[in-house]
Amino acid sequence: MKFTSTRANKQIESANAITRGISEEGGLFVPVEFPQLGADTLDKMVDMNYKERAFEVLRLYLTDFTDEEIKNCVEGAYEGKFDNNIPAPLSFLNDNASVLELWHGPTCAFKDMALQLLPYLLTTSAKKVADGKTMVILVATSGDTGKAALDGFADVENTKIMVFYPVDGVSPMQKLQMTTQTGNNVAVCAIKGNFDDAQTGVKQIFTNDEIRNLLAENNMEFSSANSINFGRLVPQIVYYVSSYCDLIKNGKIKAGEQFNVVVPTGNFGNILAAYYAKQMGIPIGKFICASNKNNILTDFINTGVYDRNRDFYTTSSPSMDILISSNLERLLFELLGKDEAKVSDLMSKLSKDGKYEIDADTLAKLKAEFVGGCCDDEQTAETIKWLFDEYNYLCDTHTAVAVKVYKDYVEKTGDKTQTVIVSTASPYKFSKSVLCAVDNEDDTETEFDMTEKLSKVTKTPIPAPLAGLKDREVLHKSVREKGQMTDFIKENLGL
Ligand SMILES: *Cc1c(COP(=O)(O)O)cnc(C)c1O
Repeated sequence: MKFTSTRANKQIESANAITRGISEEGGLFVPVEFPQLGADTLDKMVDMNYKERAFEVLRLYLTDFTDEEIKNCVEGAYEGKFDNNIPAPLSFLNDNASVLELWHGPTCAFKDMALQLLPYLLTTSAKKVADGKTMVILVATSGDTGKAALDGFADVENTKIMVFYPVDGVSPMQKLQMTTQTGNNVAVCAIKGNFDDAQTGVKQIFTNDEIRNLLAENNMEFSSANSINFGRLVPQIVYYVSSYCDLIKNGKIKAGEQFNVVVPTGNFGNILAAYYAKQMGIPIGKFICASNKNNILTDFINTGVYDRNRDFYTTSSPSMDILISSNLERLLFELLGKDEAKVSDLMSKLSKDGKYEIDADTLAKLKAEFVGGCCDDEQTAETIKWLFDEYNYLCDTHTAVAVKVYKDYVEKTGDKTQTVIVSTASPYKFSKSVLCAVDNEDDTETEFDMTEKLSKVTKTPIPAPLAGLKDREVLHKSVREKGQMTDFIKENLGL
């Protein structure tokens, strides 16, 4: 198995793709071709547990890893880290629809599915290709990624992790999750600016020769833990394969029968992993892409025009407040027949004009499999209440966006295909919005008071990793100007 770039022809091993994160010309690493999960293998996988299923998928991509290395990675990532040791359970709503709960990990958001595994993949890769250098992971976060990366990388040997978040841009729960993080290789810093400032700062540091050379002289190297890294994508393919196995196991579909997926989408990593699962042989029918009021993807799927020249909205589903969905580039690469020149052309238009358009043929291909839908905060809240009243099922704001878009889709098409709705966060990560939705509460109280109330009103437990936060010591208090990120890094690395 070899990897190439979406913008340049390459032939590299997975260990290189994972340590580098992004290709030097700015493209994203993608498999040259998709390995196949044959009917016999899938048949066997139905009776496997999550770790065994993960092994079967990973070994097809990480052909430069030994079986033993992959088993160690999977064991470290998923054993004892998720509620009931079941990382991706399906919860059945009715005859046609189930919810794939991806938030039973240590930080209560779906980012754990990949970020518990990535440190193992990265350190194993670095041993192969980076001569035992210390990997310095830089993360800019609007909330969920930062904590999930901190939790995954804390005390992992030969790594250091530094997280930058916008000082006023994360929820109180998310902030406390990050600032109380323990570990002797972790650093957390608030930036006086918004998420874009943090993100731009990190990108500039990645491409700054002076600091890169300084790191190299000290036997260190930067790497990335955000979703452009293929090492974050491959663990996400696993849970789509796993949910197919679980649908069969529970008699919801027969082997080979199609099912649809609905995915609350931001950077397009999660839904792309579903598309990759299909390329490997998982019979997914429609990919239903759900957005909040930042509905650039809905417009793109409907019209073929991607146009970021529009207002940016802050919504109750903040992890989907995004105008540039990086991983869409990987889908374009496939739809355009793996033509890196065409992808490069669209991406340079995007950076120059903030806009590009795909041709009619490509749009037809996109529409044959993808459906786009969106809703606003009011509809999100109504859906949380509806789902709770109707099914006694409590979901978070991001999941509610997916549920609403699915409802609209079924109303419009009458499609009764078995459907998996992807749930990306625990409702307790967004207690305030969720409580206001189910209980018509005014939102004057603190997030933590709301958390306890939510538990009383809905008779659901507060996840343990969040329940204890209030009493944890705040360990990270740094707040810096956005121009001071490099200084923060140097200080923390003792350079
Ligand atoms: C990151 C995130 C998303 C968006 O996922 P993408 O892979 O970026 O599309 C959705 N919901 C939650 C809760 C998230 O943390």
